Amino acid sequence: MRNILVPDNMKTVANACFTGKNPGADLGIIAELFKTSRDQIYLPIQKHTDKVVVIEASLEPVIADAVITKQKGLLIGVQVADCVPVLLCDLKKQVVGAVHAGWRGTAEAILKKTILTFYDKFFSDPADIQVAIGPSIRQCCYEVDGEVIRAVSLATGNSDYFKSKGDKFCLDLAAANQVQALTAGVPEGNIWISDDCTFCSPEKFFSYRFAKGSTGRQAGFIGIL
Ligand SMILES: [Zn+2]
Repeated sequence: MRNILVPDNMKTVANACFTGKNPGADLGIIAELFKTSRDQIYLPIQKHTDKVVVIEASLEPVIADAVITKQKGLLIGVQVADCVPVLLCDLKKQVVGAVHAGWRGTAEAILKKTILTFYDKFFSDPADIQVAIGPSIRQCCYEVDGEVIRAVSLATGNSDYFKSKGDKFCLDLAAANQVQALTAGVPEGNIWISDDCTFCSPEKFFSYRFAKGSTGRQAGFIGIL
């Protein structure tokens, strides 16, 4: 496992990491790293939805692509292989979140909806939310058609996160999610974004497109200490 840095100020109330390739999201190793047990790790059943689940008492996995919790000692995470893993924490209200944003989730504004849920459930001010956007397939390697760009643009607005290439487009989903976080009120200085492209670095990361479909997953985890 490769532990990728997250902003220092996220660590004041929360511990967070993005794992790299080999062995990826090995829950035994993750539990050890966070000094917790495997049954205190929550991964949702990801289906490229816009569903945000708030974990309180029940740890029963449900279909969702974003998880939020205020529960101490619980580790929440998402698994990806090209899609964007996003970790969030509100230092003041002591709330953490993990989001899986592929193009469908991004087109459904899942990150914006997660930030809104921080506010609705825990009265988080977006200005207090820290956001870490982990390794994903970037503009250099993510060719999509116009339909995808239209869907993502409708949710995100116009900004510099895609460019045209012949009759196709090159999309930077991480940058689109950065724009969604900004428009939801998160200050630019609160957003960390990984430079890594999963497709460019198959030795470091699992990439669904590089492997042509059959591959493992890396993950992002966050929890309140
Ligand atoms: Zn690339």
